Amino acid sequence: MALIYLHNTLSGKKEPFAPAKKGFFGFLRRPKVGMYHCGPTVYNYAHIGNLRAYVFADTLKRLVKAAGYSVKQVINITDVGHLTSDADTGEDKMEKARRREHKSAWDIAKFYTEAFFSNLADLNIDTAGTKFPRATDFIREQIRMVALLEKKGFAYRTSDGIYFDTAKFPDYGKLGDIDIAGIREGERIGKNAEKRNPTDFALWKLSAAQGGGSAGEKRDMEWDSPWGVGFPGWHIECSAMASALLGIPVDVHTGGIDHIPVHHNNEIAQSEAAFGKEFVRYWLHSAFVNIEGGKMAKSEGNFITLDTLKERGFSPLAYRYFLLGARYSTPLNFTWEALEAAQTAYKRLKQTIAQGEYFPKGTSMAKEIPLDYSKKLLDLISDDLNTPAALALLHDLLEDEELKWSEKKKLLREFDSLLGLDLLSKGKEREIPVEVQKLADERARARAAKDWKRSDELRDEIAKLGFEVKDTPEGQKIS
Ligand code: AMP
Ligand code: ZN
Repeated sequence: MALIYLHNTLSGKKEPFAPAKKGFFGFLRRPKVGMYHCGPTVYNYAHIGNLRAYVFADTLKRLVKAAGYSVKQVINITDVGHLTSDADTGEDKMEKARRREHKSAWDIAKFYTEAFFSNLADLNIDTAGTKFPRATDFIREQIRMVALLEKKGFAYRTSDGIYFDTAKFPDYGKLGDIDIAGIREGERIGKNAEKRNPTDFALWKLSAAQGGGSAGEKRDMEWDSPWGVGFPGWHIECSAMASALLGIPVDVHTGGIDHIPVHHNNEIAQSEAAFGKEFVRYWLHSAFVNIEGGKMAKSEGNFITLDTLKERGFSPLAYRYFLLGARYSTPLNFTWEALEAAQTAYKRLKQTIAQGEYFPKGTSMAKEIPLDYSKKLLDLISDDLNTPAALALLHDLLEDEELKWSEKKKLLREFDSLLGLDLLSKGKEREIPVEVQKLADERARARAAKDWKRSDELRDEIAKLGFEVKDTPEGQKIS
């Protein structure tokens, strides 16, 4: 069993990982690891920054499996209650989208949930056994938890809902060492003067006080509750679903770094107050994908989707390669040039591997060498997911003249299972990108016009993109 080290936001340190439930590394019973990942708010497409959070969660799942554990993974779908402001003011993002698109909030949720699943498939994210609970399917559990908090004296009523009293939870703000005293009235409190403390947050909001935008408009999503018709505050869904589906303490909980100050501190406060025990053992946070110096965000309108990448001729796995080129905790600057470089490197890798299949080379059969790569790979990923070093090792492996192709292939399977780059498949990655096809079409026209000089130039341009063009009696063949 490999020892895994993870950077825990709770302690601010890299720690050796051990799940809460002890088990035996036997053939039949593997110790279980419960992992919860804050999922998308399905009021719009996920952008490529959001998708980093799930490539990260996937790499973690692949590592935990490779280390010999069995994994219980949950990625929630936020389809209600996420307001446009963290201060519990503003509008429910789902209701806002409903007006934008003239559809019901339910149809909006369905549409963007499916788009999200299609993104996960494109990025080769392993969803086997993963649960994707929707917040609207866990309303009962959320109401039960709010009622428990009220019974234990942690909640109070205002004219627009039920709030958590953060002053009653002395550890409030422990994740990421938040400067609670520094959060002044008006920062998080927004317009709600009935809140007792600036950091208090909504557990349940009342429809009557909330409306669906313009006054008197009825919300699409609302439920009966002991406090009146309304809907859950955003944070409570994660606590309710994590405890219902994984049990607490949850071993690993992840999200983007923007979740540390508010969302995750709120999850901790309400869960530990309600259940009286530790909520999560290891908190891990992924850094942003930035664009032109700022955070890529749906609200900023500067976001790029995976479909846009595909339309521009990029393969989703080239984007995965781009992401793995930095550790999950390092901010990444997205530029088209950087993605182009990642795509070229990725295609070259695939090409080298495809050539290896046809022209196997190498001499030694020394058993220790493959084992050495295998151990190094697992050690690197076990070191708080050092994916950039794992990619460098992958290049070393392919350049290693001492290894036989059969040995390399065995090792490439291990790289594939940990990095999910689909290195050995000959399927979808063989697709010809649009830009290559355009150059090939232009070359066909140049040849028809007997412009051999232009034809050769275009062959070189195609080669620069990692593709080879051959002239056959049936026409050009690109590989
Ligand atoms: P949302 O759909 O807005 O709830 O966000 C889904 C996930 O994406 C969360 O884990 C966020 O922390 C994360 N996230 C949001 N913006 C970015 C970004 N620009 N780069 C990386 N992750 C992000
Ligand atoms: Zn969450």
